[in-house]
Amino acid sequence: MTDLVLYDTAARRKRAFVPIDENRVTMYVCGPTVYAPAHVGNFRPEVVFDVLFRLLRHVYGEDKVLFSRNFTDVDDKINAAAAQEGVGINVITERFTRIYHQDAAALNVLPKTFEPTATGAMADIIAFIERLIADGFAYAAEGHVLFSVAASETYGAFSRRSLDDMLAGARVEVAPYKKDPADFVLWKPSKPGDPAWDSPFGPGRPGWHIECSAMIETSLGETIDIHGGGIDLVFPHHENEIAQSTCAHHGAPLANYWLHNGFLSMEDEKMSKSEGNVVTVHAMLDQGVRGEAIRYGLLSGQYRAPLDWTAALIERAQKSLDRLYGVLRRLKSVDAADVAPPAGVMTALADDLNTPKALAALFEIAGRANKAETVDAQAQAKGELLAAGQLLGLFKSNPDAWFGLDSVSDEECAQIDRLLTERAEARKAKDFARADAIRDELTAKGVQAEDGPEGTTWRMKG
Ligand SMILES: [Zn+2]
Repeated sequence: MTDLVLYDTAARRKRAFVPIDENRVTMYVCGPTVYAPAHVGNFRPEVVFDVLFRLLRHVYGEDKVLFSRNFTDVDDKINAAAAQEGVGINVITERFTRIYHQDAAALNVLPKTFEPTATGAMADIIAFIERLIADGFAYAAEGHVLFSVAASETYGAFSRRSLDDMLAGARVEVAPYKKDPADFVLWKPSKPGDPAWDSPFGPGRPGWHIECSAMIETSLGETIDIHGGGIDLVFPHHENEIAQSTCAHHGAPLANYWLHNGFLSMEDEKMSKSEGNVVTVHAMLDQGVRGEAIRYGLLSGQYRAPLDWTAALIERAQKSLDRLYGVLRRLKSVDAADVAPPAGVMTALADDLNTPKALAALFEIAGRANKAETVDAQAQAKGELLAAGQLLGLFKSNPDAWFGLDSVSDEECAQIDRLLTERAEARKAKDFARADAIRDELTAKGVQAEDGPEGTTWRMKG
């Protein structure tokens, strides 16, 4: 295939992707804090890096790519939610982990190779901190352990911030026990009543940054190929992950490629007002939005660019999928050819995951499918659509089920398809009386027909 190039935040440019070991390609993405159903913005990295996972699996082999994405299950917001309900934090984190899994499945996100949690990795986190202290990169003070920024020669290089910028711009907590105001917490005492873990530094809980450093090392190793996350994590989270891991590993880099997805903004009043300013994937699914349409919407913009999440965007996504599923439904009786994903889709994805271009390529194939005059040509086009869908995580539904026709009998489906063809022919022959009569007959049956560039699709009125 075309060589894969990825935009590396550390280098601020696109770089050809070369894994450390082609037989063991590693990727880590910072995951959600599980205290509430996840916002659609949380699912942008989930879906974007799922496409990268699928692409890497296609290139290197399904069992050659290891993908680790954590759940942050130690957090003040979790403590607050647990206290409010009068339950243990595990009740909260298990509930929202389960919901997250359901949402991810509805969006056709592949299961991860590893899903570490902070509570599950506590012993590793504590051991990681002990090594940093032993090597002089961290110090204990008043029940806290702090990373000493002065001990890291390259601190700030990744996010390209000077120490002055960091102190001016970031919410740096000035505390009497800090040697330098920029030093950040690796371990801290828990507030009274909050969960605490025993450690050589006193009972308490880890800081957020050290959790990721420890979970990456435990699940994937010292230096990984790709580290991903939202653009808002560059500083301080990823800068701090790099400082901790590079120091603990005596200079070995944490990741060779750093990928960051852009913000999802919600300027549409209708969208931002549903769910009290937060649009959750769970609520959208409950309201009947198709998971695949949410996925398509998230992939409709290049991942690094900001994406404006609007009702119109979801509607366009649904309509686009209707057109493509309509083509697949018309080719229902054709056996798909076993083909590689089409070049147009591969080239687009290999260029730093240009998903809008890859989606556009699907419509070229759909157009070809409609013009195909032989069964071979139809089989080829269908095969290409399905292979591309596999890479993009689309077309998981049976085309009849997509249009809600599971409960409509085959005979009735065939009759409606026949009527629609007849109507198209009547229109072509300018026999509008006949066309209108057929339309009325279809309406009486509850058929909702939609004409598009790839022909007419229909569903039963709910
Ligand atoms: Zn992280």
